This record gives sequence, structure tokens and C-alpha cells, in this order.
Amino acid sequence: MPARRPLRPVAPWTARPMLPRRVATLSVHTSPLDQPGAGDAGGMNVYVVEVSRRLAARGIAVEVFTRATSSDLPPVVEMVPGVTVRHVSAGPFEGLGKHDLPAQLCAFTAAVLREEARHEPGFYDVLHSHYWLSGQVGWLARDRWGVPLVHSAHTLAKVKNAALADGDAPEPMARVIGEEQVVAEADRLVANTAEEARQLVRWYGADPARTLVVPPGVDLATFTPGDRAAARRTVGVPEDALVLLFVGRIQPLKAPDVLLHAAARLLADEPALRSRLQVLVVGAPSGSGLAEPRQLQELAASLGITDVVRFVPPQAAGALADHYRAADVAVVPSHNESFGLVALEAQACGTPVVAAAVGGLPTAVADGVSGVLVDGHDPADYAAAIRKVAERRDELSPGARRHAESFSWDRTAGSLVEAYAAAMAEMGSAVRSPRDRVRDAVRAFSAGGGAR
Ligand code: UDP
Repeated sequence: MPARRPLRPVAPWTARPMLPRRVATLSVHTSPLDQPGAGDAGGMNVYVVEVSRRLAARGIAVEVFTRATSSDLPPVVEMVPGVTVRHVSAGPFEGLGKHDLPAQLCAFTAAVLREEARHEPGFYDVLHSHYWLSGQVGWLARDRWGVPLVHSAHTLAKVKNAALADGDAPEPMARVIGEEQVVAEADRLVANTAEEARQLVRWYGADPARTLVVPPGVDLATFTPGDRAAARRTVGVPEDALVLLFVGRIQPLKAPDVLLHAAARLLADEPALRSRLQVLVVGAPSGSGLAEPRQLQELAASLGITDVVRFVPPQAAGALADHYRAADVAVVPSHNESFGLVALEAQACGTPVVAAAVGGLPTAVADGVSGVLVDGHDPADYAAAIRKVAERRDELSPGARRHAESFSWDRTAGSLVEAYAAAMAEMGSAVRSPRDRVRDAVRAFSAGGGAR
């Protein structure tokens, strides 16, 4: 049985370092080792990987706790030097969906606390939780360890439920309540965009002083403009094709169906285009609705465009870059997107984007400069925007790359370090709220043996 120890006193806070030396990153429902583009693995996984790497490069060790989903997984994996992934046993390896995981949070939290208890007090300097399930774990660990909890929601149930696509199941009330609790408890809330920060404040009652905007980044070394003709050969599309690209998890929220309808519209308006049009859909099913790949294939068949649509399984970043380079236009017609990394990656490859004007996409795409934003989800509007952007591709391409260059994972990591340091300093400062002073007193009393 792993050792347990009583709650520690919070003093001496001043002995804590100014900058974190080790971060406990919580990613309960999806692992940074998973291939994004299917199931629960998407932008959040990329975010955790990219940020963890850059923190490690700054000398800050990162330990990522994630749920083990296979008996083959070793308990500990070194992702890169300085970044460790810990596979936590919490429930059966397979067969649990994201909605089953609230019942496993106690098991997950216990494993995280026991891991920390193997070390000297103060082993972790800060907790960073991703998605509300992890926030629930982080909230308890924060109280137990006396270190700040920094939380990234990535998506918010209230926002998602306000923009549901046909066939998409609403997020349950349990998640809404869970998110509200995490928002109330976290020491810092990290939003991808100013819009998300506003949503946290207005819809969840977040304290504006603890809510900060940290834009995500893009890997500008992997996602480069490169040789378009070579990319087309690699991807297997003719040099003179008009290539429209969708990349992402296949789910109603991402609206790949809007792209198929828009492609049918383009062909109806210009039948001669059929010999040149290629629609690439890269990704695999996730969640409900369009979860069955054949549903999208059936839609293509019913629209009479099977011959121009190709479904491509999830690709690793290098191969994905070739798909972006090969495309004339990347299309992101999502009903909601907390940011939209795919839009940024396409632009980094010099490919302009047609995107829905929702969520983080107006930040990810500079309307008229790196692509075009479309209000609503009418396929006719997407067809018109695609035509316009395809015609202006050469002009928009440099703007797309320039816009992508204004984002960087290194800056994301730098801003997070500042947020960690500010939260650590605040926790260590003598000026503490009455609630915290009571909590400190209880901790000090317990640690002195009073509670046992
Ligand atoms: N992705 C990938 N391979 C694929 C499809 C997607 O690696 O075949 C990655 C893509 O590079 C991007 C992420 O998945 O970084 C999707 O992030 P985005 O913010 O666009 O959407 P999310 O998944 O967060 O909803």
C-alpha cells in the first residue's frame, strides 16, 4: 500500500521557487501519445505535446498524467527528455467513453496523489489541468499539495450546447456543473482567445482577474509552404486539380457535411469542374452523429460526388503538412471551435482557409488576408467563398503564412510560465483571502497532528 501522509502546512510558502521546476499536467481522457485526428484525440493533445516540449526546453520538467487505455502501455513513458507520461489505472482499459469517466475520477485522483506522496513535499510546483475532467482532479490535488491549479477548458459545454449541429448530442448537465466548479476553484483560467475568456466570465462567472488569454501556437518548422507540386505527387492528386481539404475528427460539430454540400454546389454551377475537383477529408470518426464513416460516404453518394471525394485516415504531422500544401483551399466549416489549430497549420503551409466565423476561428484566420470567414453554414455561401479564395490563392498564400507566423508555441509556453509564476507568487504571498487563511490554518493544524 503506498504511503499516505496528512495534509501539509502551507508555510513556508516563501521557500517555494519563483519559477516552476516541475509541472504536473493532467490530461485524464486523452493521451499526448495518441495520434490526433480520431476519437478524443485532437487539438488538446497537440497542445499538451507542444507546450510540454517547450517547457522542458526551458528546463521545466513536465509529468503528464493520463488514463491508461490499454494493458500494453508501460506505466511511465519518456516522451522527450524532460517530459514524462504517466499512465494511470482508473477503470477498465477499454470500453469506456468520455462520458463514463466522471465515475473514474476518484480512482484517477487517488493514483495522482499516491504518485506525489512518493516524493518529498514540494515535488510539483504547479498543476495544469486540461478539460474539465482533469480540472476536477486538479482541484483536489491543488488543495492537498498547496500548489496553484492552472486550468485550460479547451471546450465549454454551455458554448457547445448553444451551437449544436444536427445529430449532435447535447453535453450533459453534470459536465456543466463540473466546469462551473473547476472555474470557481482554479487559481488561473487559460483561454485560447479573448472570446473564450469572455465566455468564461459571462457564462461561468469566472473572475476576470484570474482569467488570461494565451493563444496557442503552430509548429512553423513542420508546417511550411514547401513544394506544392511535389506535395501533390506525394498525396496523389493531379497537378491541375482544384483541391479542397478538410482535416479533423469526423463529427457533426466539425461540419464536414457542409464541405460536401458546397462541393456539390460548385459542380452544379460548373459541371466542367468535375474532371479537376478533388475533395480530401482527412481524419476519423469521433463521438456521435457522423461517427460512422459510411454516413459521410453515403452523403457523398447521395450528392452524386463520390468520384471527387477521398477519405484519408488520420495522418502524422509531416504527412499532414503535405496534404495542406497540396490543397488550394482548406475548409473549416465548424459549428464551434475553441480555436482551430487546423486553420493555423494550413496557413503555415501557405494554404488559405475558408472558415466559419465562430469561436476562435476569427482569431485563427485573418479575414480577407489569409482566407475568408463565412457567417452561418449555408453551403452556397461556402461554395462562393471557396471559389473566391481559390481564384486569389497566390495572393492570399503569403498572407496566410504571415498570419500563422504571428503564433508560436514558444510564446504560448512563455506565457504559461508567467501564469504559473504569478499563481505561485500569489499563493505564497502574505496577502491571502480570508477563505485561504482559514484553509491554511486547517492545514497547519492537520499537519501538526491535530486532525488525526
Ligand atoms: N490532426 C492530425 N492528424 C490528422 C487530423 C488532425 O495530427 O489526421 C491534428 C491537427 O494537426 C490539429 C489537431 O489534430 O493540430 C486538431 O486540432 P483542432 O484545434 O483543429 O481541432 P480539435 O481536435 O481541437 O477540435
